[in-house]
Amino acid sequence: MTRKIAIYGKGGIGKSTTTQNTAAALAFFHGQHVFIHGCDPKADSTRLILGGKPQETVMDSLRVYGSEKVTLDKVVKTGFHDIRCVESGGPEPGVGCAGRGVITAIDLMEENGAYTEDLDYIFFDVLGDVVCGGFAMPIRDGKAQEVYIVASGEMMAIYAANNICKGLVKYAKQSGVRLGGVICNSRNVDGEREFLEEFTAAIGTQMIHFVPRDNIVQKAEFNKKTVTEFDPTANQALEYKALGKKIMDNEMFVIPKPLDMDELESMVVKYGMCD
Ligand code: ADP
Ligand code: MG
Repeated sequence: MTRKIAIYGKGGIGKSTTTQNTAAALAFFHGQHVFIHGCDPKADSTRLILGGKPQETVMDSLRVYGSEKVTLDKVVKTGFHDIRCVESGGPEPGVGCAGRGVITAIDLMEENGAYTEDLDYIFFDVLGDVVCGGFAMPIRDGKAQEVYIVASGEMMAIYAANNICKGLVKYAKQSGVRLGGVICNSRNVDGEREFLEEFTAAIGTQMIHFVPRDNIVQKAEFNKKTVTEFDPTANQALEYKALGKKIMDNEMFVIPKPLDMDELESMVVKYGMCD
């Protein structure tokens, strides 16, 4: 059975970095077959896996070839350790609904049998703080059964995580989607680990892993690689390996209980992060 996982979190928090690095670790260290479906109009969810190989997005291809002629070989590319990649893309900037591309691309993948049975994992790397429109599709229509939220100890990241949980609750009953945990992608904020532990416990989930902030991530990125490809012996590669293993072994899938504003505010105040 393929596990279909959606990654959500505030913009810039490290969703694409964490997704690609975890995917690379799952493939390299744990022998898993992985597919990454980028669902951000920015279309930067797969470039570390593809080593900078240009990838035409589904939306671009539709514009160029028309819907009849878009075949998988045009839009699905294979990169590091056979990880398969697709980018939804989006409308031309300022035109139309950005979420539309997500729907179109997932439909196209399904119709053309891109999500093959040999896959152990499909990751949907989804834009944003809000779970609305096309960006809700992976969890609304049961395309993904599991969600991980990337967050840090920064206030806005926690607010976003809490909001994403509210969106998730809305769809959980009808689609069966569950929260598998929060990944802390550290920003080296004081008391970050404790804050995330308390927040995740309060909403009924877990902090599944604490990913340290490490410059090797940027160094690898500069070389258009994940850390695992750049240097599999690096400490940070072992962190992504550990995160991958925890996802493999995870058994805690919940419908979260998001906090109301007062509860969230008092937790923020307690950790002295109201700046
Ligand atoms: P998102 O996909 O959530 O918008 P990105 O994955 O593009 O965010 O991350 C933004 C930047 O943060 C990236 O350029 C990356 O270099 C940096 N980054 C992410 N995680 C880490 C980390 N653990 N250590 C150091 N830098 C990181
Ligand atoms: Mg991203």
